[in-house]
Amino acid sequence: GAGAGGGLRVRWGAREFEVRGGGDVGALKREIERETGVQPKRQKLLGLRAKGGAALSDATPLKDLVLPKTKKIMMMGSTEVAIAAVQEDAAKAAELEEEGGFDLACEDPAMLAVAERPENQEKLERRLTAVQPTLLAEPRPGKKLLVLDIDYTLFDHVSSAERPLELRRPFLLEFLAAAYRAYDIVIWSATGMKWVELKMKELGVLRHPDFTLLCLLDSSAMVTVHDPSYGIVNCKPLAFIWRHGVFGGHYGAHNTIMFDDLSRNFLMNPQNGLKIRPFKNAHRLRHTDRELEKLTDYLEAIAELSDLSKLRHRRWERYLAKWNRARGEAGPPP
Ligand code: MG
Repeated sequence: GAGAGGGLRVRWGAREFEVRGGGDVGALKREIERETGVQPKRQKLLGLRAKGGAALSDATPLKDLVLPKTKKIMMMGSTEVAIAAVQEDAAKAAELEEEGGFDLACEDPAMLAVAERPENQEKLERRLTAVQPTLLAEPRPGKKLLVLDIDYTLFDHVSSAERPLELRRPFLLEFLAAAYRAYDIVIWSATGMKWVELKMKELGVLRHPDFTLLCLLDSSAMVTVHDPSYGIVNCKPLAFIWRHGVFGGHYGAHNTIMFDDLSRNFLMNPQNGLKIRPFKNAHRLRHTDRELEKLTDYLEAIAELSDLSKLRHRRWERYLAKWNRARGEAGPPP
């Protein structure tokens, strides 16, 4: 045991801090609350065990505990603010679903926390100052924003082919042309800008009569975050676009949707992400892959909404089926 004497290290998500650790487990939890804002009843402490296998309660004195040799424990739990935000979403979702509207978001509090963490906010601030994106067009007032990954989303970057066009996802140009009617389009890849420009040119989307891309972004605008289930990963924070002056404040959580085959790229903004099926094995799949064709319909359907921030995109296919049924019953649209 080591309770009474030295301090304890506590890990909470990406954060780590020290507590004095006197008294009992209840006192320890109150100390952790002062540090994190997470109420004792919400805290789950991992790595603590009572001596002799006795039951552990808030009244157990710390001196009766077997602590890890590292004197490090882990706390899991969410703040009331995070929980309230999730509950509010869920309540709105229930309301709107009753109205026969869209399927809505109810995100995991742990996911919300990633964007809220001060160290992640600081990283974002640094990107906002250091990275100056080049606009290829002006933001169009009233348009929503579509952010697209490249590898495995628009293009199979692994299969080999004589011409890159053989690896282009079916329906890509039609998809971009249709989306462009209601959305400004940003391409964001976790690679370098040279590669992004080259690929976009080869895929024939850099100059096209039916659409103009708003901007290309690369790995320099991404941030590294820690997440309990993914570990340490690089992700694409949409707030970079929402807050960077060059985009003029036209976009926010209410009008942005992002497609990526890796959901970890959504960690800073889980609700805005739609996990697309990866386009792999292009030679086999290019005759059957209809993902972009179907997603065109989805984008078109949700373009009517003034607020996208409550949609649960992981259910997009179910939603689309419902929408098509409703449209079928009502007859063809005018
Ligand atoms: Mg990808």
